Amino acid sequence: MTKKDLTIIRNLLIQRKAEFLNKVKTAKRNISNGFTEEVGDEIDAAVQNKDKEMSFEIAANDQIIMEEINEALGKLEKGAYGACECCGEAITIQRLKAIPWSRYCIKCQQEAERPKR
Ligand SMILES: [Zn+2]
Repeated sequence: MTKKDLTIIRNLLIQRKAEFLNKVKTAKRNISNGFTEEVGDEIDAAVQNKDKEMSFEIAANDQIIMEEINEALGKLEKGAYGACECCGEAITIQRLKAIPWSRYCIKCQQEAERPKR
């Protein structure tokens, strides 16, 4: 991996981090709005509850990806970025550009995702 690639990846990670922080902030605001708003009737309440649940889901999922991004940024700082945590092989630059917080090479990822019998 070249220095230029690393800079691109670092920018991608920082950008995604900012996007997620924004999304989480919006989701949290929606949740607190939902609690203070007056509820018109039961149908409204049901719709609002559904929205609230979704907001929580988005925030929880984002939280996980945020941790992955922080982890990846940490590895970038240490110069340990880009190696598969399972087999130690270099993760392809194409894969890293698509998912900059990838921990595993495509082979190990597929192995992990394959349903176990
Ligand atoms: Zn691997």
